[in-house]
Amino acid sequence: MKAKILKVLRERGDYVSGQQLCEQFQVSRTAVWKAINQLKEEGYEVEAIRNKGYRITSSPDIITKEELVSQLHTNWAGQEVYYYEEIDSTNTRARQLADQGAPHGTLVVADCQHTGRGRRGRVWESPKGKNIYMTLLLRPKFSPDKASMLTLVMALSVYQGLKETVDLDLKIKWPNDLVCGNKKVVGILTEMSTEIDYINHVVIGTGINVNLEELPDEIKDMATSLILETGCRQKRSAIISAILKHFEENYETYLETFDLSKLQEEYNRILINRDQEVQILGEKQTYTAYALGINEKGELLVRKEDGSIEAVYAGEVSVRGLYGYVS
Ligand code: ATP
Repeated sequence: MKAKILKVLRERGDYVSGQQLCEQFQVSRTAVWKAINQLKEEGYEVEAIRNKGYRITSSPDIITKEELVSQLHTNWAGQEVYYYEEIDSTNTRARQLADQGAPHGTLVVADCQHTGRGRRGRVWESPKGKNIYMTLLLRPKFSPDKASMLTLVMALSVYQGLKETVDLDLKIKWPNDLVCGNKKVVGILTEMSTEIDYINHVVIGTGINVNLEELPDEIKDMATSLILETGCRQKRSAIISAILKHFEENYETYLETFDLSKLQEEYNRILINRDQEVQILGEKQTYTAYALGINEKGELLVRKEDGSIEAVYAGEVSVRGLYGYVS
């Protein structure tokens, strides 16, 4: 009830009478009044004027299920939301939900992660109440070799979603991070469960440093947050909603060709490594090359010192600048 009332008040952006809410949801005046009080307790400011009704005048920065549902403008992404105040990892939870049959588009969001993960077992610092930790569950009908490109589709969507909500110059660091200047703001981790020729599910986890004013010591030197860069507090739910909307569009575009051919131009435009000398850190070898941009498979094309062009596959390597994390 609370979620439905919140959604109506949000969408109207003006007064909605108690009578109308009662009729629309077939509930008593007391039930409406109770739901409004619960919203106030959560930090929403709701104006109540006799003969006019209720109007939301401000919302808190929370990412509860009700808050997210009232903000979403998607067809399938986030139509089922699981919110946790604390969790081990949203990716782990999404995988469990997938095993239990949760549908394509299920979204897991948490206010804090105890064991947030990066690639290859690295830690994703996930303090409480400030950042976004979310995982989108997909059930693609294509072969497993195509799934790694979804990390890049999400990176592009996060870029577009943030562009819409925050005034900040962000770039993508291939394949899965967003950076501001030389510092990391967003990390993306894609994991999947597959059989030889089909995908059971894919989970795409995204961590965004949003209102975090003090970074943990471990990442102080190479990370930043939206508030540190802009000086402005952001509404996390608005950011999540914008990202999901873009992801839905980009995913549909991806499905037209099953590759990035229609998305690669935009990705390359905002790729910080493009036309830069980079170090490719592989498991077996490390070398310096000149990054040209991604191809339609999401591989990074680099020109090696001997002039040959190589397509680097994201799963195997990390990319660094010559002197630091980015440049
Ligand atoms: P690489 O550039 O080597 O490929 P990556 O950028 O893909 O690495 P991930 O595995 O995605 O890295 O993320 C984990 C790394 O990100 C950690 O090792 C740490 O350096 C950094 N990190 C951890 N938590 C945060 C955070 N909240 N914000 C920014 N960076 C973080």
